[in-house]
Amino acid sequence: MPRAFITGITGQDGQHLAEFLHSKGYQVFGMLKGQNNPRALQFRDEFPYVELVPGDLADLPSLVSALEYAQPDEVYNLGAISFVAMSFGQAELTSNITGLGVLRMLEAVRMVGGTQNNKIRFYQASSSEMFGKVREVPQNELTPFHPRSPYGCAKVFGHDITVNYRESYDIFACSGILFNHEGPRRGLEFVTRKISNAAARIKLGVQDELVMGNLDAKRDWGFAGDYVRAMWLMLQQDAPDDYVVATGETHSIEEFLTLAFAEAGLDDWHRYVRQDPKFFRPAEVDFLIGDPKKAQDKLGWTREVDFPALVRMMVRHDLEVEASRLKK
Ligand code: GDP
Repeated sequence: MPRAFITGITGQDGQHLAEFLHSKGYQVFGMLKGQNNPRALQFRDEFPYVELVPGDLADLPSLVSALEYAQPDEVYNLGAISFVAMSFGQAELTSNITGLGVLRMLEAVRMVGGTQNNKIRFYQASSSEMFGKVREVPQNELTPFHPRSPYGCAKVFGHDITVNYRESYDIFACSGILFNHEGPRRGLEFVTRKISNAAARIKLGVQDELVMGNLDAKRDWGFAGDYVRAMWLMLQQDAPDDYVVATGETHSIEEFLTLAFAEAGLDDWHRYVRQDPKFFRPAEVDFLIGDPKKAQDKLGWTREVDFPALVRMMVRHDLEVEASRLKK
């Protein structure tokens, strides 16, 4: 039975990946940080087949112990301070966990068994936020980085150090440059889930307005369930490499609002949406669109859920969840 170790296990991608690897016959270990982590209880109920192992990306010895215990064939580093807006307020913490955390994980892999004679394969969750103020359209694996937030800067470090450890120590280390990926498990702080959840609540009469920031930004939004397949595929290749994972389409926040409110059965989103400067960011990433050709050609990866289907899935899920909450 192959063994996988995942950091960020309680996050959106950790959950999708655990489910996917379990269906492939993996024994799945997930790293859990903190004393009395509030997410642990619900996670254990939903994912009884995942063995949780204590550890923290800020603490190298804990990572070494966790890997010694799990003895994984594959390590997926999905753990991070992942919310761009928060990274402006907590830049040092973000750099430590999202950036230096990658270095610590790579060191642990190297110490426990990641070089030529050993076996651990390593996946780093890189991000389209590294492209930031984009230098070309669409963005591919060779597009220069220009991050626009402390989160983006930390992800650039994580990406570069992954490439460096691959080249320096012959570790089987891959970096997936994933564009935004969403779904019903996305945190409510991210714009897509904030909208799908608000549309559902407004429809059900428990909320009357939605307060937003910049509506002009455009993103290349895919479905998280499709994207974790690409992570796994990267680690099944003969040689490690870096790949952009994206849909190749870009949509505005206004388009997301239009589809989401229509799916909830509300006629015009303008009636409910108000903008507030507090949701604007000091610097913004305006136009992300990825070129997934390499992932398609070399990994045979394709997405299964398109943009309208993604919005539909999220709104329907939130309508169900909010309706059942009302009944309680
Ligand atoms: P990101 O791409 O990782 O930053 O994902 P987000 O979902 O947090 O943000 C996507 C885009 O939506 C950014 O350009 C935000 O500025 C924009 N946006 C506009 N209003 C909001 C809002 O109320 N919340 C969030 N999270 N983003 C918003």
